[in-house]
Amino acid sequence: MRLVIRNLAAVLAAVLIAALLDAYVSERAAVWWLGFVLVVYALSETAYLARLHHWATLPRNRSLPAGYGPWRALIARLSRFVRQEVDAQGELASELARIHAAVDQLPDGLVVLDRYDHVLWANDAAESLHGIFGTRRPIHHFIRQPELANLLASNEPGSSIRVELPGRPGRIYELLLHRAQGDQKLLITRDVTERAKLDAMRSDFVANVSHEIRTPVTVIAGFAETLLTLELDAEQRRQYLESILAQSLTMQRLVDDLLTISSLESDTQALDDEPVDVPALLERLVDEARALSAGRHEISLAIDGPRRVLASPGELESAVRNLLTNAIRYTSDGGRIAVDWRVQDAEGRISVRDTGIGIAPEHLPRLAERFYRVDRGRSRATGGTGLGLAIVKRILARHQGHLRFDSAPGRGSTFVLCLPAARLIPDAATAAQPPVAARTAAPADDNTTASEGAPIDQRPSSTSRSEPTGA
Ligand code: ADP
Repeated sequence: MRLVIRNLAAVLAAVLIAALLDAYVSERAAVWWLGFVLVVYALSETAYLARLHHWATLPRNRSLPAGYGPWRALIARLSRFVRQEVDAQGELASELARIHAAVDQLPDGLVVLDRYDHVLWANDAAESLHGIFGTRRPIHHFIRQPELANLLASNEPGSSIRVELPGRPGRIYELLLHRAQGDQKLLITRDVTERAKLDAMRSDFVANVSHEIRTPVTVIAGFAETLLTLELDAEQRRQYLESILAQSLTMQRLVDDLLTISSLESDTQALDDEPVDVPALLERLVDEARALSAGRHEISLAIDGPRRVLASPGELESAVRNLLTNAIRYTSDGGRIAVDWRVQDAEGRISVRDTGIGIAPEHLPRLAERFYRVDRGRSRATGGTGLGLAIVKRILARHQGHLRFDSAPGRGSTFVLCLPAARLIPDAATAAQPPVAARTAAPADDNTTASEGAPIDQRPSSTSRSEPTGA
């Protein structure tokens, strides 16, 4: 409004001067005056318009030419507006740069494709995974898997394929396609190796359990049918019923072990730690093992470690029992089994050594896997489920410990439960001595050693193994 008033005032002033000139000087002077004002006005406007035109052709961030007269206020406002826009653009550009930098940090590859499946943009991960460089090139120049064509043609939102990529052996990648704005597509490449392994493990597990259950169920069904259809004498009936009972017990053991492993792996149950009297526990379990062996083996016990450890009594008992049962099952009559409790290398170690059949080195890496058996027939015949060592390994993981084993065919095996120093409770009588963790045990007793009498961790690494317990 002020601008309009000021302009009107200037026009009125020029007209008033012209009227005064007309009245007091001459009509001619008034006309010259008006002509002069018009020419000056036209020239200055033309010059200013030329400067504005020049500004409009320059890059946007040059400031507007300073206004004069009636233009000043308008140009000042326009300048402010242009400045704000330039600032906003700068912020947008740095925001975009930040987003690009963040997207480049992503481990997943991202590629934006146009409607013809040409690359519009790719992040660092996609460039390195697929060797993408530049833009406007068809994506199949970089990803040559034949399944890609089907994926790109698919209209299903979020459809995906799993592929292996050249130069990345052993890794499995998922290519995931999303339709983006307009005709654009977003192709995400994600490393799903671990997930694929888990999926495979899960289906292996289901297949293994079904397989393990099928054998006893088939046997039970067969004998039951025979009992129902054939006339058998009392002795035959007894034999068939005994077989049914034996297969039922196998199934019961399998179900018990499955429940144990699933509760150990679910991690919902907290560890009920309490001081456990190790010598008392081992004495009880060795007595139990002697009863199971029924005099077929010579079973000895040596105690050289602290009396108590912090552990779940039930779980520790189950772990030692599993090792002792295996030692009895895989050691022929007349063999020796030695149980030993000591501190060595800042760990509490309960070892079970036998002079049994032993295990060939190629089996050692997979020994503690669920359902892995060296000799399936022997394991089944002796009531094994193939889950014993997997249970032991899981129990030790819950105690931050680990399982070590060492074996050689024909020479016997040694399995060692290793508990961390933090779980050892120093004996009151020895509390004045250096902490338990710092003490080391005397060398292993030759009489109870399955192979050459060296402590387990001093034997060649090809036959000795420490099982990671994290899984
Ligand atoms: P299983 O119920 O079959 O014994 P485990 O998980 O306890 O299952 O043991 C896995 C496999 O390891 C066994 O099938 C057996 O082949 C081998 N094994 C375990 N302990 C011993 C041992 N003391 N001596 C020889 N082989 C053993």
